[in-house]
Amino acid sequence: MSEQNEISRIEAAREKFRAALAEVRTSSEFQELRNSWLGRKSGRIAEYTSLLKTAAPELKKELGRAINELRSIVETAIAEREKEFGASARPKNAVDITLPGRAPQLGHRHPLSLVRDEVMEIFTRLGYQVLEGPEIEDDYHNFEALNMPGDHPARDMHDTLYLETPIAPAKAGALQPSRPLTLLRTHTSAMQIRHMENNPPPVRLVAIGPVYRKDDLDLTHTPMFHQVEGLVVGTGITLADLKGTVSAMARELFGSAEVRFRPSFFPYTEPSAEVDIRCFKCAGAGCALCKKSGWIEILGSGMVHPAVFEAVGYNPDEVTGFAFGMGVERVAQLKWGVGDIRLFYENDLRFLEQFGI
Ligand SMILES: [Zn+2]
Repeated sequence: MSEQNEISRIEAAREKFRAALAEVRTSSEFQELRNSWLGRKSGRIAEYTSLLKTAAPELKKELGRAINELRSIVETAIAEREKEFGASARPKNAVDITLPGRAPQLGHRHPLSLVRDEVMEIFTRLGYQVLEGPEIEDDYHNFEALNMPGDHPARDMHDTLYLETPIAPAKAGALQPSRPLTLLRTHTSAMQIRHMENNPPPVRLVAIGPVYRKDDLDLTHTPMFHQVEGLVVGTGITLADLKGTVSAMARELFGSAEVRFRPSFFPYTEPSAEVDIRCFKCAGAGCALCKKSGWIEILGSGMVHPAVFEAVGYNPDEVTGFAFGMGVERVAQLKWGVGDIRLFYENDLRFLEQFGI
């Protein structure tokens, strides 16, 4: 290729450059164009300049002039276009208001919190006081004051988790010397004792919170679960009051107000009763939920044992009362048909997201 041809090729390159510049739409296209013309190593201007080394001496001047002219045209045009891009470019960190919005992810409240809050709301409306208390209890408040002295067989039913290091007992003299003093509370009833010790009757309270038993994990048992317990003490409180209260709660929680009492035994109540509600799924016809019986057991209850009143300094001849207790997990399982209690603790969002906010 002769140098003369090179000169005309360089002159033709001006038009090529102008055409290419006219095609540029985006900033990255512009960068690409600039590199392909002005790039130090592989740009076209650099390529043409390298021709000067081998050019014939008589043509060097003309070739050099053509290259310089092209360089000047390209640099000026690029600089002008760069200004335009600079003016139209978005400032850093600018918000593109045309982008579709990003919806914030809302959390879901845990089903056990939903049940707890619903139960608390029902009883607050009925004028009850809501109590929370220590999860580490002493033997006295968990058992002894609830009419379960050290050798009482009912203690075995509780599968208690005793703690190695005892905290100071409330009433040291009342304790069995061979027994550890502190434990993880096996029921929320201990809070009822603490409340009555410090407050004269009348009493109207619900206690709610986690309790602990040495249970193995299966479909219906966990070593930690939640209880809600109610206690009403005053003059002239009867079994009819208990039945009315339990019916009102069942109506609110399950939409089923029909209840039946079955005789049972608890050391701290006399008489004691298990309470069933008419199955809210089949209305008593019999289904899988109620195991074809038409009834569902929801809680244990009874009239407060006189020995409990004596332990807290109330006069059993002057006051009577009723108490009831149920499992928060059991209520949640029944309400939403959850077959496996372990789902409540596995923190699987696919499960938790199915409940309310
Ligand atoms: Zn049923």
